[in-house]
Amino acid sequence: MMVLSHVAVGGAVGSVIQNPFLAFFLGIVIHLIMDKVPHFWPKKTENEVYFKAIDIGLSLLLMLVYWLVGFHSVSFWAGVMGNLSVDLVTVGIKPIKEARLGQWQEKRQPHVAKPIYLLTDTCFIIIGLYFLWGLR
Ligand SMILES: [Zn+2]
Repeated sequence: MMVLSHVAVGGAVGSVIQNPFLAFFLGIVIHLIMDKVPHFWPKKTENEVYFKAIDIGLSLLLMLVYWLVGFHSVSFWAGVMGNLSVDLVTVGIKPIKEARLGQWQEKRQPHVAKPIYLLTDTCFIIIGLYFLWGLR
């Protein structure tokens, strides 16, 4: 699933759960659940590079917006980082990506190359942001 979806939902988790450890843990659990929902992922490697670059750019932008609008609490960022940590570890760290854990995390995800499945990420982003700003 897109990093942007995890940043959006992780922020919502971190804004609800006031305990940083619990927010981080729930971020991980929710990430693993989110990844099980069928979602878009490009098939061709060259498209995947652009998709990832746009995704990471938008994610960094959203995190900057979070900071600028005043989300500074430890539990908030623990929710975001908990949700991001699954991909940071299983995709970002090459030996883990190639090990059994990384392969398991890759194979358990229903990736669909049809663009209509971008709606899955869109729904998670809208739900996360709505939840986040609806609670303020
Ligand atoms: Zn993931």
